[in-house]
Amino acid sequence: MKITHIEPMLIALPYDHGAPKPTLSTGAPRTLMDAVYLRVDTDEGITGWGEAFGFGSCPITLEAARIVVAPLAVGRDPTDSATLMSDLHRRLQSMALNGPVRYALSGLDIALWDIAGKIAGQPIHRLLGGDGKRTRLPVYASLLRMQNPDHVARVSAAAASRGYRHIKLHERTIEDVAAARDAVGPDVALMLDTNCHWDVDQAIRMARDLQPYDLTWLEEPVYPADDFDALARIRREGGIPVAAGENLGTLNDLRRMVAAGAVDFVQPDVTKFGGITEMWKAVQFCAGQPVAFEPHSPLYGPGLIATQHIVAAMEADAMCEFYFCDLGASPMGDAINSVDGFMTVPQGPGLGVEVDEQVIDQYRIG
Ligand SMILES: [Mg+2]
Repeated sequence: MKITHIEPMLIALPYDHGAPKPTLSTGAPRTLMDAVYLRVDTDEGITGWGEAFGFGSCPITLEAARIVVAPLAVGRDPTDSATLMSDLHRRLQSMALNGPVRYALSGLDIALWDIAGKIAGQPIHRLLGGDGKRTRLPVYASLLRMQNPDHVARVSAAAASRGYRHIKLHERTIEDVAAARDAVGPDVALMLDTNCHWDVDQAIRMARDLQPYDLTWLEEPVYPADDFDALARIRREGGIPVAAGENLGTLNDLRRMVAAGAVDFVQPDVTKFGGITEMWKAVQFCAGQPVAFEPHSPLYGPGLIATQHIVAAMEADAMCEFYFCDLGASPMGDAINSVDGFMTVPQGPGLGVEVDEQVIDQYRIG
């Protein structure tokens, strides 16, 4: 079998999260949920789908897939994915430890697992060695940033009323966290993600002030994301469990983060970290460490489905992350829907999802 074509595409869906739209780093409002998908075609008619981290406001992942990764992968045998991926990582080693080229490789890796499952007639979680016993996955509602305690309270209550038992905020003030805690009561787990907003001293002060709100974790409290010594200090002196990892590129980065005592929760992202192959190595590494693996997955495409398979196959318990919003359409059909805070593990071959190409065509912008 040979790869005949790789088609990277930018998909952008309208959404409603029950509050004004958050702003992008460019300062413009985020009006669409955008993502980069990869469709990998073969000469035997089997197609695989993957996802690479990327946005329409910064379409460089699309170009990395198109210009750098696709020309090296087309013509190669997708069934020997271990050889293909390790060869591509080596050949691109000067630009693929992190960033857009690695994201594009991550998308390719996911698509190769989809193809492998379709050939074997098995869902990816089975290929990973899962016993198939886990059929439902707990999901945490990841709330977009609102920066307004009234909105935070209302949307947190809405998430709890839809059955979510775990809610993550992307806020940065005590007032916003207090509003969420008041709204959901003591029995819903709350997490807080600042997206690297504070310096280390601020983060320690904030962590101490946040203690009464019983946060399950404080995520990426400090800039830059890979300052593991700072994270370790915040963890020691702040008195709240710390989570990080979505901005790591490699397993070696992740090992260094854990060795530094930087985190309680390890959060690599399948669309950035090297795909399912590298994520599964991280799962196995974390199983022998005093940390919990909690994948980063604020996604709605093949990357979220890949994350479902990883969590389904794990020995330890973990959750999937899902942005709390109503999407205008779903390229993955019902596979991304949560009921009472749980998603269903896909059981079909590969990703186990029939990708809706009509939705893709309708919402493709690049
Ligand atoms: Mg985060």
